[in-house]
Amino acid sequence: MQYQYLLKRNLKKNWSEEELRASVDAYVEMHSLEARGKPFVKKAYYETLANTFGRTVKSYEYRMQNISYVYSLQGRQWVSGLKPARNVGVNVIQMLEDLIAKSEGQHLVAIAYFNAAVEKLRKRPPSLPPKGNKKPASFLSSGTRFVRDPEVVAWVLAEAAGHCECCESSAPFLREDGSPFLEVHHVQHLADHGEDTINNAVALCPNCHSELHYGMGKKELAEELRAKITRLQVTGA
Ligand SMILES: [Zn+2]
Ligand SMILES: [Zn+2]
Repeated sequence: MQYQYLLKRNLKKNWSEEELRASVDAYVEMHSLEARGKPFVKKAYYETLANTFGRTVKSYEYRMQNISYVYSLQGRQWVSGLKPARNVGVNVIQMLEDLIAKSEGQHLVAIAYFNAAVEKLRKRPPSLPPKGNKKPASFLSSGTRFVRDPEVVAWVLAEAAGHCECCESSAPFLREDGSPFLEVHHVQHLADHGEDTINNAVALCPNCHSELHYGMGKKELAEELRAKITRLQVTGA
C-alpha cells in the first residue's frame, strides 16, 4: 500500500522526456513569436500542455520559468513575464538545453572555416558595406559563435579600428598575427532572430561583450549602443 502510494506519487512527479520536449517546443514558439513582435497568449500554451499531460497550468508556467533560466545561462533574452526560476537540477538543465537546440533546429558549423575566412578578409576588408543576411539560416545558441557572414565581421572590425565600440578603450591584446583582438557581437542576438548585417553588429572588448550577454543592465546597455552608433539605427527594409 505504502509502496503503491510512493510509486504513484513518483510517477506524478517525474517529467517524461516527451512532456519536457512539448514544454520546450511551446517555449521556443513563444520566444520566436515575441522576437518577431507577434501577439500570443502564454496561458493558452499551458492549458494545451495541461490537457495533454495532466498537470496544473501553474506547474507548466513554472517549468517555462526554468526554461527562461536556461536561456539566461546562455546569455539570451527570455520570454517577457517568465522570470528565470533557478530551482532546477543540472541534469534537467542539460536536458532542456539539448531540447532547445533540437527544437530550434540548430546545428554545429565549421568554426575553423569561418575564422579562416575572416582572417583572409581582414587583410583586405570589403570597401563597401557588405549585405550580410537578414535571416541567417542556422546558428549556435551558446557562446559567441554563430553562422554569419565573414564579410560583416571583417567590415565591422575595420570600422572599429582597434577600439571597443562600447567603452571605446583599445583592444585588450593583439592576436598572434598582430591585429587587435575585438569580438563582433550582434546587438539583437542571432539566436533571438537578429540580422547578420553591419546594422546589427558591433566590435567589442571581451568585458563589454560579456556584459551585453550577462549583465544586469544588458538591455539598457544595448539601447545606449543603438543611440550612439548611427549604423545601428538603420532598420531592415
Ligand atoms: Zn568595451
Ligand atoms: Zn555576442
